[in-house]
Amino acid sequence: MSLWHPFTQMRGFAPIGEVVEARGAWLTLADGRRLFDGISSWWVTLHGHSHPRIVQAIAEQAARFDQVILADFTHRPAAELARRLAARMPGDLDHVFFSDDGSTAVEVALKMAWQGQRAQDPRRDTLVAMRGAYHGDTLGAMSVTERDVFSQPFNPLLVDVVFLEWRADAIQSWFQEHGHRAVACIAEPLVQGAQGMRFHDPALLRTLAEACQGAGAWLIADEVMTGFGRLGTLLACERAGVSPELVCLSKGITGGALALGATVCTDAVYRRFLGDRKLDAFLHGHSYTGNPIACATALASLALFEEEQTLARVAALEARYAAQAPALAALPGVTNLRFMGSILAFEVEGGPGGYFDPAGARVCDAALARGLFLRPLGNTVYLLPPLCTTPDELGWCLDVLAAAIQEA
Ligand SMILES: *Cc1c(COP(=O)(O)O)cnc(C)c1O
Repeated sequence: MSLWHPFTQMRGFAPIGEVVEARGAWLTLADGRRLFDGISSWWVTLHGHSHPRIVQAIAEQAARFDQVILADFTHRPAAELARRLAARMPGDLDHVFFSDDGSTAVEVALKMAWQGQRAQDPRRDTLVAMRGAYHGDTLGAMSVTERDVFSQPFNPLLVDVVFLEWRADAIQSWFQEHGHRAVACIAEPLVQGAQGMRFHDPALLRTLAEACQGAGAWLIADEVMTGFGRLGTLLACERAGVSPELVCLSKGITGGALALGATVCTDAVYRRFLGDRKLDAFLHGHSYTGNPIACATALASLALFEEEQTLARVAALEARYAAQAPALAALPGVTNLRFMGSILAFEVEGGPGGYFDPAGARVCDAALARGLFLRPLGNTVYLLPPLCTTPDELGWCLDVLAAAIQEA
């Protein structure tokens, strides 16, 4: 056996099955089973698997030209995507720097903030993040992620970061006292994903944005999971009326077909890097920066938002949650049921809690036996379906979930 699976103890591991085809929200396995992809294949799939419009964009761009070095050349897919993304962002988020995935989009934002802020004020030396955060698995991104079982072997390698509670008084008092030393604060707007789908009041995000602004610290919105309609608006920040200095994008950016990361920044951030010396530039890049096939795919995905009225679809999914959530919340063992946009989550009572709590896995196993693929976060079970899911399909998912809870 030579294929090493992510987040997996390989000893004794057997995959659920071999995928041979995927259409819409459904996966077909070699043994003939059809499974509903209830977590959008790790939160990436938007318009459905192998959507014809996306497949066509990949084929056409691949036939025209594939990767070319972006340091010295420009090309339409990257330039057009940068222009379209900037046009859809709030405020003056006008400049787009491409990378490979969510983690690199975060690394880029952290490095941009560090270099850009210290170019003007070298006394700023503190990175701020939120308790319960997840920002990726590379060392920089891990540094601003909640220290837990995943970071534990690597803690000595991580940089010092100040972690703040999601409470208005904690945010305000820290920034009042120490804000002048803050480079930036990174946060997942409205929903903290990987640490258990924790929901936060939009007013708290506004408090954080105001505290940052008052202290001259930059707000980095990590929209890698929440972006591209997941919560009903293109960015979650829009739902809170917040306009950050930097935004990290990935996951849904290509509709879920190809890896691509983007860090979008304001003109004020961008101008910190303009100068006569090459040393003042942002000396960062990746081999595949601005990959033309990935960018063309992202353009097709953005077009689909208009053509298929994707955000209206999310509103319909949210309405379906509202209709069926009370019955689910009333089931024994279910606590803290919540939903926003396309995401529904709850905790399963009765276990020790935390990431190794088997209670969530029991519910997900029972759902899998009924054709719904889910992946728990400890005792947190959540549904995060592709945005192409129809209200009837979502109703079926919720019925399956109810049966799975009762069985588990
Ligand atoms: C998934 C995720 C990342 C990391 O993205 P990768 O593509 O897995 O590197 C970063 N931030 C958030 C909020 C995420 O959900």
